Amino acid sequence: MAYDPSNIFARILRGEIPCQKVHETEHTLAFHDIRPQAPVHVLVIPKGAYVSWDDFSAKASDAEIAAFVRAVGDVARLVGVDASGYRLFANHGEHSHQEVPHLHVHITGGRPLGPLLTRP
Ligand code: AMP
Repeated sequence: MAYDPSNIFARILRGEIPCQKVHETEHTLAFHDIRPQAPVHVLVIPKGAYVSWDDFSAKASDAEIAAFVRAVGDVARLVGVDASGYRLFANHGEHSHQEVPHLHVHITGGRPLGPLLTRP
């Protein structure tokens, strides 16, 4: 799947629409999810144009990958869920129901989160 530069997170990165920023580095941006599914629900995205985890893990530089992994941990500590616990997830493609075609890792927490998956 080719990267679509009109996706909503690309527009946030270009400053065309606002976000509730939590954290930013040279390679990453983190902001609150607009429809939170838990008391803490933050999205971490790379600044590079990567559709999903599949694209990013295949094509990103070592520096981008290291920065992204560090940012996810730093953001979780920043929002205070490191001690109580949190769940990370990243949807890729049709079966996961990925909505926004720019890689994002969800950080969710702030309450017990229940089972990992439910049957459709
Ligand atoms: P996914 O299904 O993994 O692609 O998740 C996309 C997430 O992006 C959803 O949790 C949405 O609530 C969130 N989202 C969509 N638009 C925005 C936005 N403008 N700002 C923050 N979060 C957004």
